Amino acid sequence: MRTGDEYIEGLKEKRKNIYMGGEILGHYECPGTEILKLTFDIARLDEYKHLATAVSHLDGSTINRFCHINQNPEDLMAKQEMTRLESRLVGGCIARCMGIDAMNTLSVITYNCDQAYGTEYHQRFLAFLKDFQERDLVGCCAQTDVKGHRLRRPSEQTDPDLYLRVVEKRSDGIVVRGAKAHNSYAPLADEIIVMPTRFLRQNESDWAVAFAVPSDHPGVKLVCRGASYRDRLPDFAGLCSGKGEIESLTIFDDVFVPWDRVFLCGETEFGGQMALLFSLFHRHSYTGCKPAMTDVILGTAALVAEWSGIEHEDHVGSKLAELISTGELVYGCGIAAAVKSTKMPSGTQVPNIVYCNVARRHAGLSLYHEYQILAEIAGGLPATLPYDDEMASEEVGALLRKYLKRVYEVSPEDIYRLYAWVSDYTCSSVAGVYQYAGVHGGGSPIMEEIAILRTYDVEEKKQLAKWLAGIEKPPVDLI
Ligand SMILES: Cc1cc2nc3c(=O)[nH]c(=O)nc-3n(C[C@H](O)[C@H](O)[C@H](O)COP(=O)(O)OP(=O)(O)OC[C@H]3O[C@@H](n4cnc5c(N)ncnc54)[C@H](O)[C@@H]3O)c2cc1C
Repeated sequence: MRTGDEYIEGLKEKRKNIYMGGEILGHYECPGTEILKLTFDIARLDEYKHLATAVSHLDGSTINRFCHINQNPEDLMAKQEMTRLESRLVGGCIARCMGIDAMNTLSVITYNCDQAYGTEYHQRFLAFLKDFQERDLVGCCAQTDVKGHRLRRPSEQTDPDLYLRVVEKRSDGIVVRGAKAHNSYAPLADEIIVMPTRFLRQNESDWAVAFAVPSDHPGVKLVCRGASYRDRLPDFAGLCSGKGEIESLTIFDDVFVPWDRVFLCGETEFGGQMALLFSLFHRHSYTGCKPAMTDVILGTAALVAEWSGIEHEDHVGSKLAELISTGELVYGCGIAAAVKSTKMPSGTQVPNIVYCNVARRHAGLSLYHEYQILAEIAGGLPATLPYDDEMASEEVGALLRKYLKRVYEVSPEDIYRLYAWVSDYTCSSVAGVYQYAGVHGGGSPIMEEIAILRTYDVEEKKQLAKWLAGIEKPPVDLI
């Protein structure tokens, strides 16, 4: 396993292909490196190894869990717990789940496709996975196409490149063209794993393509937007101060991909299955990171309430109970999804569809309300908090301290630090990104509703209604 520093050194060797704010940047210059670094460093600490490492099913070696293909329900639960733990420490997205969720997806679909068509995707995937595990790589997932007119299929768009597609097949590989939107932490990934975003019809085989390329591969351009928390004076800095996150519009400008990195090419029905399965794995990851964000909001809200003297007010207790219920319901559903998971023919353990989707939907619909609860308890100060410079100023610093005072036991400096954190967490550009990510990441709530309705046995519930209403007799006469 690599150390965090070795990971950062690897980023420094990459070709500059990050376009952001009028500059072309190197990968290591992007916000979010500390978050990824933590995923390496924590795996070396004895107290976290049981969660942050796993045993490779390929060769029995110890690997980072972010490189592991889930083999049983315990693996899924450990991934969920690790995600919650690490997301808490960085105050939000842990940035490494997209890649391993994509790898788990490929492990299942390449196998199934080979069984159906005699293709050789799975062997290619296993060779890629071995290298991924041995070199302890970071992956990201480029699934979401830019999609053009939302009601038109890939083959119906005025520009066929609005969904990424194969434009040439050669003896040594394929050439792909298109752009994938909103790729979280793509500049900080070693590998970009690409897969389709939707069901495809038989005449849409050009769009049924999955592959992996290094993030600085020739022809790949990462047009990025980052968000960072405010840089603070050392006296007022917290764990996240000055740090941030990044997303990319990843453009594939006629990119050549050698065959050993192609994991699907033309088999349309498996393109659709791949799209659904990645969403499923990723929604399971959300059952770890979303409760972590609720933990952050809950802890912050409870501390603000205590230091404002309103901790024991009824309306505060009720709001805290609501936060606890949201976080733990989502987390509990993630556990249920692992307990009720299924082993696929490839050997990969796949979480339960209904539990993952109800959890992700509930988390997505609740997110703005969770921020609202924190805002209600915190009052308006996070939005109007003076800057660090004024706290440190000889002229107005003492006056600020006097007027920041709340409960007498807590110093005005600590009140300021807490409110600076609330301001960063709720009023910053990072807060805006997290709110959108909470709604749309892993699929918008409507996508979860579609998955739930397609899977859930509503007919069986109708049958129950018929028995209870006396319309039909139940199979056993118990009452
Ligand atoms: C911060 C952030 C990080 C992300 N990270 C990643 C990542 O790492 N990798 C990745 O691949 N994706 C990522 N995503 C993308 C995410 O999965 C998408 O945002 C999500 O699937 C919605 O797609 P969209 O943004 O194109 O919105 P749209 O699909 O345009 O959705 C907007 C609205 O249009 C509606 N709509 C869209 N199509 C139809 C239709 N055919 N019929 C009826 N209504 C429709 C939707 O229901 C929704 O209400 C990320 C998103 C965000 C915000």
